[in-house]
Amino acid sequence: MAGTSGKSTHPGSLSVVIIGSGPAAWAAAIYAARANLRPLVIEGAVTEENRLKGTLPLGQLALTTEVENYPGYAAGGLAEYLDSAIDADRRKYMPPHGGHGISGPELMELMRQQAVNFGTEILTDDVVEVNFRKRPFELTCLEGRRLKSQSVIVATGARANYLGLPSEERFKNQGVSACAVCDGALPRFRNRPLVVVGGGDSAMEESTFLSKFASTVYLVHRRDAFRASKIMADRVLANKKIQVKWNSIVDEVLGSDEQGVTGVRVRSTVDKAKHEELAVSGYFAAIGHTPNTDFLGGQLELTEKRYIKWTTPARTYTSVEGVFAAGDVADDYYRQAITAAGSGCMAALDAERWLASKGFH
Ligand code: NAP
Repeated sequence: MAGTSGKSTHPGSLSVVIIGSGPAAWAAAIYAARANLRPLVIEGAVTEENRLKGTLPLGQLALTTEVENYPGYAAGGLAEYLDSAIDADRRKYMPPHGGHGISGPELMELMRQQAVNFGTEILTDDVVEVNFRKRPFELTCLEGRRLKSQSVIVATGARANYLGLPSEERFKNQGVSACAVCDGALPRFRNRPLVVVGGGDSAMEESTFLSKFASTVYLVHRRDAFRASKIMADRVLANKKIQVKWNSIVDEVLGSDEQGVTGVRVRSTVDKAKHEELAVSGYFAAIGHTPNTDFLGGQLELTEKRYIKWTTPARTYTSVEGVFAAGDVADDYYRQAITAAGSGCMAALDAERWLASKGFH
């Protein structure tokens, strides 16, 4: 599905196109719009493939629950503010406000709305190909649309990883997921034992969230210590519904075509001969992320882990002059909503100054 919101569709060349729709993209759009650059945000397509990959518009924050660490949103009721701030056509599809600070989807809708309010144009499509060898740059979208822009801000974020087991692939949509918040409330997971793999903040968040629905949550982690922040790890360890399986990995998801996931085989990382089968009706991977850089076709310099390389300290410059990168697509270290938004602002300022230096506005 593709569509635009805003007034024109810019048949000629644009000043700045922002690819992505997480906090980095919207912060960049707000700054670029207020600098009169008339930005176009290409926010991603609403497709089944993007749903399965976890790359739908509004990014990873739209797949989380409460956001407790974004400054400015202390716990408290925001229902009336959300009703008044967000366009009614989108607000009606959002779940009711939970009365506890801000949720990820709410925060993203507010950022998107703020960008729209300052005149940002939005295209609901994926960029599938770029040509950074030509000027103005050329971008090709999934539905064939071609756009030209003097500058580009890449803010396409990252997506959740899976272990890579063929059995994981086989049962996707039948009990295998990398997003508890999206899928956890489905009937197949309610009052049943479930398993989460990982030891970072995502695994803590997913297992805590799932414990509201599941009878038991097994948290399988390959080491004897969590990587997660202490506050989130402590919450998990105090939760009686969560059983941690330390020094363990899942090496097979078990099930059938009729029933989907019925269990997992868990193997010890200390004694490889030791394994057990856990009867579960859901398997959730929470083992880190991969940056969304494939569509760049090797035209920007990447790091070893395929994140976009910032070529100048404290700047959002990439290896191509006029192309800037912001948010998780260029950050495998901090990966927070606030740092992504901060670098989105930096990218818009960098783009604005670069465009001015070239006499483009
Ligand atoms: P992460 O911090 O990279 O943790 C990934 C976890 O998965 C690690 O515990 C890792 O084990 C494990 N893992 C990786 N590959 C594995 C494999 N092949 N088999 C088994 N286990 C594997 O990723 P994350 O938890 O997604 O967090 C990413 C970032 O987002 C972090 O900066 C985090 O703070 C942030 N985040 C914040 C919140 C929040 O504040 N609400 C929520 C979610 C995420 P090892 O520990 O052994 O390496």
